[in-house]
Amino acid sequence: MMLYRKLGQTGERVSILGFGCMRLPVFNEKPEMIDQEKAAQLLHYAIDSGINYIDTAYPYHKGRSESFLGDALKDGYREMVYIATKLPSWDIKSREDMDIYLEEQLRKLNTDHIDFYLVHSLNSDYWKNLTELGLFDFLDSAIDDGRIKYAGFSFHDDNETFREIVDAYSWSLCQIQYNIVDEYYQAGKDGLFYAADKGLGIVIMEPMRGGCLAEMVPGDIRKVWDSCDVQRSPAQWCLEYLWDYKEVDVVLSGMSNIKQLEMNLKAAENGYSGLLTTEERNIISKVGDMYRTKLAVDCGGCRYCLPCPVGVNIPLNFKYLNNASIFNNIEMTRKNYINHLGNERKASKCTGCGQCESRCPQHIPIIKTLQKVVDVLEK
Ligand code: SF4
Ligand code: SF4
Repeated sequence: MMLYRKLGQTGERVSILGFGCMRLPVFNEKPEMIDQEKAAQLLHYAIDSGINYIDTAYPYHKGRSESFLGDALKDGYREMVYIATKLPSWDIKSREDMDIYLEEQLRKLNTDHIDFYLVHSLNSDYWKNLTELGLFDFLDSAIDDGRIKYAGFSFHDDNETFREIVDAYSWSLCQIQYNIVDEYYQAGKDGLFYAADKGLGIVIMEPMRGGCLAEMVPGDIRKVWDSCDVQRSPAQWCLEYLWDYKEVDVVLSGMSNIKQLEMNLKAAENGYSGLLTTEERNIISKVGDMYRTKLAVDCGGCRYCLPCPVGVNIPLNFKYLNNASIFNNIEMTRKNYINHLGNERKASKCTGCGQCESRCPQHIPIIKTLQKVVDVLEK
């Protein structure tokens, strides 16, 4: 049976497992070619099993995720769920753009209101731009006229920026990357507690670092998992780690097939806060440390090194280098790297100008490390 938690101070009762619509079944491995029939079956199964938090965003599946949902939620399903979608922060050039995107999203989603509207992927640059353009006025007016019910944001920057954003507006929720490895990455554990303490609902993304923590477990780590009295799959460990926190409300999983969905549903049956013993928490913390020692580069994702004049997304490059290093699965990481970074942001674009290096608080030799990314992931 699905468990529910109150989302921050909203009072809304959300399922502890959320359905992320960014890895729906597709044809020919093309994200824009959603297999509508299979994807709808999967979504309906999830909703019939009690999942009521459905997460999408403007760019998912190259812009097709929202319209897929708009179709798939006909025949009574819309009324059974909360829809969360996001304002594409990077595309906003004016106050008017914000309304234009929201209207388009309402149309695509075939609904008159968005339950949880998040400002997507906030970092200090987008934040500055959006607040100057009138973000708060936009959110206030969209809430007043009922187009959105609650406002929130998703986040990719450092802890300091996170706290600043939390304090700046009366947000109802936030969505952060958090898992057994990322306790000190981006918002981190400190950010999680900070936002929860201020009454924000907490939605977790990347509970398994894009599936890697479940699917590519190194031998030494498997041994530690196996040494525990209660046997769990690595995916189950990752999910229970999150639900153990009373501050966590929803854990999102981008599910692609029934098997994954059933596995997550089974794990969710046990997703009570405080479910882990001290011994189990110690084991998780040991595994987290083991993963962290396998990191190829100690990048905290703070983005101080940006902008790069030729557009290299340095932290994203390092994230994939770390995934290749800790999970020892070059092939899958290479594929994800190419799909996610495209041509413009990848490491081989670096001209070696050196502007970024002096800005990195971790003193990472960025140029040399980007070359490593090229060697490992681009060759
Ligand atoms: S050294 Fe490379 S990554 Fe750094 S700012 Fe210059 S071009 Fe960008
Ligand atoms: S490379 Fe350095 S400055 Fe850039 S995101 Fe990583 S830690 Fe921050």
